[in-house]
Amino acid sequence: MKFALFKDERIEATKGAKGVCPCCGSELVAKCGEIKVHHWSHKKKCDDHWWENETEWHRNWKNKFPKKWQEIIQKDESGEKHIADVKTSNGWVIEFQHSAISKEERDSRDYFYNKLIWVIDGTRRPTDIKQFQDEINLVRNMRNKTRVLGYEFPEDYRLIREWGSSKSKVLIDFGTDELWLIYNGFYTSAFSRNSFIEMMNNTQSDEVYKVLLDPIQKQIDEIKAEQEKNRREQEEKDRIRGQKFIEEDLRIRKKYDMKDDEDWFEGSLGIKIFKRYGEKIVYRRPKPKIPYVIGICRNRFHYFDIKVASSILNNYVEVMKKLDYSDEQIEDEFDINVIPKTMDVKNWTEWKNLMEQLKQRIGKR
Ligand SMILES: [Zn+2]
Repeated sequence: MKFALFKDERIEATKGAKGVCPCCGSELVAKCGEIKVHHWSHKKKCDDHWWENETEWHRNWKNKFPKKWQEIIQKDESGEKHIADVKTSNGWVIEFQHSAISKEERDSRDYFYNKLIWVIDGTRRPTDIKQFQDEINLVRNMRNKTRVLGYEFPEDYRLIREWGSSKSKVLIDFGTDELWLIYNGFYTSAFSRNSFIEMMNNTQSDEVYKVLLDPIQKQIDEIKAEQEKNRREQEEKDRIRGQKFIEEDLRIRKKYDMKDDEDWFEGSLGIKIFKRYGEKIVYRRPKPKIPYVIGICRNRFHYFDIKVASSILNNYVEVMKKLDYSDEQIEDEFDINVIPKTMDVKNWTEWKNLMEQLKQRIGKR
């Protein structure tokens, strides 16, 4: 404690000085050693169970504000009294919290002081700094918004777990130039330490919302709007893709004259039609694609004899059957060789030569 009461005056600890606790009225001892900052210590425990022993970190923070704002006794309607670390002229209470506190205690302080800002010592546990740094670097790389990092922190982030649900504003002090605000549980935002101190010292410290929170809320709204826009665009894309698939499905069903209990998939060799019997998948018996090849020839060649073409193709299928080609293999032969090569040749004569070559090739197999 920095101040004791002596004859109704607030006095700091000096060697041999006497005073009482402004909160509980019990006697205090001035501690003026070489190592720790000079402070007042209770002879017996203070009634204000929220009070934690002051560290240098506490004292440095308090000293950023006028003396008359430091260690202010706060009373509620029930008469409960506590010492607020700092209370600004606009009624904002700033609590500097070094040690861990339970959620219950945090909540009761959140309710006791209605305009409360927590400043948390983030350097107490080394893992906290490391987790935060890693995560902040990661999120900063993902998003160009420098002010707000909207992010769901992992479960094991103790600082977020302990402070994320506070209804007050929570700033984490990692000992750097920036304080990290935890906002609505999973948004964090860096805020300049000096600007914060300046803002709170300013008589218009109610600007805390305007200066600190409004720009953050604005960015959060932008992020949310962007996410919503992306979601809607994705939905539209999915809808169009679904529509196209339905159209394609209908087209293929019509083209292959598929029955309702048959389905299809697009394989490397084209459309395959199958029917499912329990666990078993049965492919539809493939048909030689003779009419399809004849169609290609008719469209591409000036001169073309349908009877000759049919007989060449039927003969080709017969040869494959004699060579014990399965129906599937015959279909593949059409898909891999006959159809694409028919599309490559320029006229009827070339096509007849092509078919002769293909026949000789399978004969050698
Ligand atoms: Zn006391």
